[in-house]
Amino acid sequence: MFEINQARFLRTLEEMGQIGLLPDAAGGGRNRYPFSAADRAARDYFRYEAQDSGLTVTLDAAANLSARLDCGDPSAQTVLIGSHLDTVPHGGAYDGAFGVLAGLEVLRTLKEQNIPLVCNVEVIDFTDEEGRFGHFFGSGALTGQLSDAHIETFLRNAAAHSADLALMREIVPGGLTLDAIRSLRRAPSSLAGYVELHIEQGPRLEEAHVPIGVVSAIFGRRSWEVTFHGRPDHAGTTPLPMRSDALVSAARFIVRAQEIVAGDFPDAVVTCGNVIVSPGVSNVVPNKTMVEIEFRAATAKELDQIEARLEHLRNEVTLHTRTTSTRRVGSETVPTPMDGDIQGAIRAAAERCGYPTLDLPSGAGHDAMLLANVTPAAMLFVPSHNGRSHCPDEHTDPDDLVAGANVLLHTILTLAG
Ligand SMILES: [Zn+2]
Repeated sequence: MFEINQARFLRTLEEMGQIGLLPDAAGGGRNRYPFSAADRAARDYFRYEAQDSGLTVTLDAAANLSARLDCGDPSAQTVLIGSHLDTVPHGGAYDGAFGVLAGLEVLRTLKEQNIPLVCNVEVIDFTDEEGRFGHFFGSGALTGQLSDAHIETFLRNAAAHSADLALMREIVPGGLTLDAIRSLRRAPSSLAGYVELHIEQGPRLEEAHVPIGVVSAIFGRRSWEVTFHGRPDHAGTTPLPMRSDALVSAARFIVRAQEIVAGDFPDAVVTCGNVIVSPGVSNVVPNKTMVEIEFRAATAKELDQIEARLEHLRNEVTLHTRTTSTRRVGSETVPTPMDGDIQGAIRAAAERCGYPTLDLPSGAGHDAMLLANVTPAAMLFVPSHNGRSHCPDEHTDPDDLVAGANVLLHTILTLAG
C-alpha cells in the first residue's frame, strides 16, 4: 500500500509536542498561545521541516502559515489541508497539531514519490483557532468572513499583550493590519476543496473500536437565558404547598431537559452551565432564578425539535410550580454539513487502507466550519483515549495517528491526484 513515512510523521508530532511544554508542577500540558514564544517556535519548526523537504512555505497577512506543493499548472486549483498549531492552556499534543503535521507528511510523501497532481496541495496552520484573541481568526480571514469590527477586536485584544505584540511583529513583518487582513481572502474559484484531520475529542470511535470517523456535520448551537419568576416568602412560616419557588422550577427544568435530550435526541447535547438565584439567601424562598442553557445538534431540524420540546417543558414546569418564566434568546450558530463527495472519498480511502469507518457528527467547532462556506469541506477523526481533550491527558494510539494520516493521504490522492 502507498503510505506515509510513519517514523518521520511520529517524530514530528513528538517534537512539536515538546514545544511549549510545561512541567507537571506548573499544571502540565503545553501552552502554545498565538504570538507567544512557543507559537513562534512551533511556526519555525513547521517551516524548517517543510523547507527541508523542498516545499514552498508562505505566510499570509493573518499569520496563517502554509506549506505548498505545486502541480505545475499555473491555472490549477488548490486542495487545502488545514488545522492549527495553537493550543488551549495546558493543551494536549494532538488537538490541531495532528492535522497540520499529518498534512505536512502527506505533502512530503507526494513530493518524494513524484506523484503527478492535477491540483496544488497546501497545508495550513490557521492562526488562533482556539480563540485567545478571536476564535477561528485565521480561517475566518482566509475565507473573507470576518467583519471589520471582528478584526479590530482581535487586533485590540492582541495589542493588550505588549510582549506578544512585539512577537507578532516578528512573525508578520510590519504586524497585522486591518487593510491587509481584509484583502487576503482567497477566491473560492481558486480552491478545489478542504480536508481537516483531527482527533475526535470524544469517546465514540474508541467505544466502537473503529479507527476512522467520517464527520457528517459540525454541530450547530442555540443558547437561551431562561428566567423563572416566583414569590419571595419566609422560609420558616410559608407552608410548602403555598410557595412559588423559582429555584424549584429551574431545578425541574434542568433535570427534565437532560432527560428529554438524552432519551429522544441521543446524538445531541444540552447543557445548563450557569444558574443565578435571587435573593440568594437561605431563609427566603427564591423569587427569581436565571438559567443559562445551550443545546447543540447536527441539523437545523433537530435543533428545531429540541427547541420545541424545551419550550413545552418550560411551560409545563411553570404550570406545576405556580411560577412564570421568560426566555431571552442568545447567540446561535447553524450546523455545518460536510461535503458528501469528500465524505465518500474519505470512506473509499479508508477502505483502500483496510480501515473500517464510522459516520459521526462533530460536537466541537473546527476551522472546517468556516471553509465549508466557500469550498467543499470535510473532516475525518481518529479516536481520543477516554474521549479526553483540551487537557494534558489527551492521547491517541500511534497506530490510529498513522491510520488517520494514511487515509488523509489517499483522500488527497483522490482529490488532487
Ligand atoms: Zn482543534
